[in-house]
Amino acid sequence: MTEKRTILVIEDDKDILHFIDISLSKERYGVLVAKTAAEGLFLFSSHRPDIVLLDLGLPNRDGVDLLRELRSFSSAPVLIVSARGQEKEKIAALDLGADDYIAKSFHMGELMARIRMVERVLQKMSPILEIRCFPATG
Ligand code: CA
Repeated sequence: MTEKRTILVIEDDKDILHFIDISLSKERYGVLVAKTAAEGLFLFSSHRPDIVLLDLGLPNRDGVDLLRELRSFSSAPVLIVSARGQEKEKIAALDLGADDYIAKSFHMGELMARIRMVERVLQKMSPILEIRCFPATG
C-alpha cells in the first residue's frame, strides 16, 4: 500500500467543493480546498500539493489565468473541471499545460479514475515523490 497524495481543489461552488472534499477524503487523499483563485495560489505555494483540481469558472479571476501563473513556476499536474459551454477555456487550459479535464456534472467514479491516471503518470515521471508525500492528517 502506497501513501496517498495531497490534492488541492479550487472550486467556488461550495456544494461541489464539499462533495469532492468528502469523496477524496474517503479515498484517503489529503485534501486542501480553496474557493478563490487567490486562496488557491496561496495554498499551492504553502503546501505544494501533488495534484491540483481546478475549476475554470471562478469569481474575480478565471481558471485559465490562474493556470498560466501556476505554470510559470510549477509543473504539478492540473486536472481542469469545466462547465458546459467552456470549450474555448478548456482548450486554452490544455494548451497551457493542463494534464486532463473533466466536464461538470461528472460522476465521482470518473473523477477518481482520472486522478488515478494522473497519479500513474506522476509515478512514472518521478517515483521518488512517493517517499515525501504524506496525506494531511487531522
Ligand atoms: Ca465555478
